Amino acid sequence: MWTNYHSHCTFCDGRSHMEEFIKYAIAKGVTKYGFSSHAPIPFETHWTMKADDFDDYMAEFQRLKSKYSDKIELFIGLEIDFIVGCTNAKMLFFNDKILDYKIGSIHYLDQLADGTYCSIDGLFKEFYKGMNELYDGDIRKVTKRYFEVSKLMVQAGGFDIVGHLDKITLHGARFADFDINASWYVDLFVDYLQLIKQKNLIVEINTKSLLEKGMTFPDKRFFSLINEMQIPITVNSDCHYPSKVIDGFSETYEALKKAGFTETYQLIDSVWQPVKF
Ligand SMILES: [Zn+2]
Ligand SMILES: [Zn+2]
Repeated sequence: MWTNYHSHCTFCDGRSHMEEFIKYAIAKGVTKYGFSSHAPIPFETHWTMKADDFDDYMAEFQRLKSKYSDKIELFIGLEIDFIVGCTNAKMLFFNDKILDYKIGSIHYLDQLADGTYCSIDGLFKEFYKGMNELYDGDIRKVTKRYFEVSKLMVQAGGFDIVGHLDKITLHGARFADFDINASWYVDLFVDYLQLIKQKNLIVEINTKSLLEKGMTFPDKRFFSLINEMQIPITVNSDCHYPSKVIDGFSETYEALKKAGFTETYQLIDSVWQPVKF
């Protein structure tokens, strides 16, 4: 009864074609599967979809949706970046796009002197460079800015699911001064959750780094809090390889059960609805 709404394919930085992901998902008993390529952004990158490819993205999806309609329910979305002063889910480009859902994510913080952005989800050395240049080499400062920008994204809206909401922990965890149990961090995190709750957004439990790094986004330390706050969740693998379609799912559902969760949200007749697991 697995579902996954966060996945990448060759239309962005995914390593295989849509159809390969679908075949693997069917083989693993996934009942609902969604594609969420990195949406085009106003400058060139190696990891986002080119705006010109959007129509092909839709056409290939429609072809596969009909081809596999008796085996799996397929959905089409986008993972849309929020970059301060640069791009967000309310940009003109997205206005006329008919998608099943949108994921809002942060991969970049502020702009460096050379015109690039401080990357929080790429190589550590890129993050480190940005942190030193823009935030005095202070992990707390960059973390605080991360949650500020995250809140701006949620305030701006235009999407359904908050993607990997504490991705700052990916590199943050390498610093002695970074502690997700410290009150300065918990305060930032809870404040962000309250805004998400107020805006009725779904939080994804992102399992991409669970098997390799032992991390989920959000961290499992906060699962029971998210449950107490009655914030809707959905479990996503954010896979870039077909073989990783359900990576970390069993472990994550176990942890969610322990934290008191009994349901995750699924897209049913175009409405996000709770379903028991
Ligand atoms: Zn992402
Ligand atoms: Zn992603």
